Amino acid sequence: MAVTWEEAPSTVIELAERIIERYHEHLLDARIAFIMRSEAQSANGKLTLGKAKKLSAEMQVHIPFDFVIWLAKDYWEAFLTPKQREALIDHELSHCKWDGFTASMKGHDVEEFSHIIERYGFWWPQSDEFATAVQAALPLVSTRKEGGVGTIDFGRIAKDAAREMQEAGLDVEFNPAGARGV
Ligand SMILES: [Zn+2]
Repeated sequence: MAVTWEEAPSTVIELAERIIERYHEHLLDARIAFIMRSEAQSANGKLTLGKAKKLSAEMQVHIPFDFVIWLAKDYWEAFLTPKQREALIDHELSHCKWDGFTASMKGHDVEEFSHIIERYGFWWPQSDEFATAVQAALPLVSTRKEGGVGTIDFGRIAKDAAREMQEAGLDVEFNPAGARGV
């Protein structure tokens, strides 16, 4: 089925506004458009639930926004808990850098394979901040059925603890097939 796009509902905008006020104050005067993509993006076994992009000066001639963030409408409506919705929007907003004039993008703190973490742990230099975040998030993992970041239930539960840690690490990688915000 062809992918279709539509404006985000006001519930999405209101949630995003709350998250910006709470965690991303520097984005208060950035112009951010939220849109819904009819279905999650699937490529190379990875499911993408959302994506943030900056609009170039060229695009802004006709599109009066600094960033555009799309969210997968199918997952948003059918699978994501309120906490996961918040995590997804917070994740995408974290990609948006804004200095008051210029939009730019920020990459993830961590990009790693589950099996490398399983084999070597948090092996990379300056991994302390990530390790601390994982430790703080572990209670959320153990209570995954009650909700918490990375608790999406696809009918299968990720088996290994390393993956669970990654889920809790806000990289929004959820299930064995792999689902994430990019
Ligand atoms: Zn991302």
